[in-house]
Amino acid sequence: MSDPILSLKGIHKSYGDLEVLKGIDITAHKGDVIALIGSSGSGKSTLIRCANLLEVPQQGDIIFKGDALRWTEKRGQRVPADDEQVRNLRTHLSMVFQQFNLWSHMTILDNVIEAPVTVLGQARNDAASKGRALLKKVGIGDKCDQYPAQLSGGQQQRAAIARGLAMSPTAMLFDEPTSALDPELEAEVVKVIKDLARDGTTMIIVTHDMKLARDVANHLIFLHQGQIEEQGVPSDVLDHPKSERLQQFLSATL
Ligand code: ADP
Ligand code: MG
Repeated sequence: MSDPILSLKGIHKSYGDLEVLKGIDITAHKGDVIALIGSSGSGKSTLIRCANLLEVPQQGDIIFKGDALRWTEKRGQRVPADDEQVRNLRTHLSMVFQQFNLWSHMTILDNVIEAPVTVLGQARNDAASKGRALLKKVGIGDKCDQYPAQLSGGQQQRAAIARGLAMSPTAMLFDEPTSALDPELEAEVVKVIKDLARDGTTMIIVTHDMKLARDVANHLIFLHQGQIEEQGVPSDVLDHPKSERLQQFLSATL
């Protein structure tokens, strides 16, 4: 097996008295596509947000390409000790959200090249030609000069994916990328995600779409109340659920 890219070990996260993640272990190797499923409120978003430190877990380790995140204490809270490590992690893990989160006052191309120019220091022209190519790759090469509001939801989400790819990330993190879309627009985004999987892009995808999980993932994790209840090869897990909880979840999603 190839080297691990991202390992989460023993992740615990609470909001006040509410313990949302109760000790989660996940490892993504190069080329892995991990699908994360579970009921609303099971902790999927919190987990994927912990992976790039949009949320800071109170316990557990995050190891990115062999480099374990270092921690310190501030006002009784555990926080990352080294801002550079956090920046590095975020730069190399691109996140795509359910609600696209494009900058509404910028054109689609400017959305895509903003971070490569400001964070990576790429020359604007180089970033723009790469950005155009990425927008073409996701099927919206003709939308470069439009603004987000002029695009359909499916087009906006594909622009958001192109924006993530523009950072040449080590892995992509998706949080329900198709949940805000009508079925016919969802298919456009699913196609892009399938293409990325075929290209060997390492991805962790939170999804409610069991077909997507089955088709693109090589590993599926079912989260229940902040714990991994069941995991394995997607077709095995989905066709032969062992736990009653997963059986219930699957029959409710049909
Ligand atoms: P999922 O993505 O699986 O639907 P979430 O990770 O969004 O679940 O949420 C898990 C639980 O944590 C829910 O009970 C939710 O209300 C709670 N939660 C999430 N974010 C916060 C927050 N910032 N503050 C307080 N509670 C939160
Ligand atoms: Mg969520």
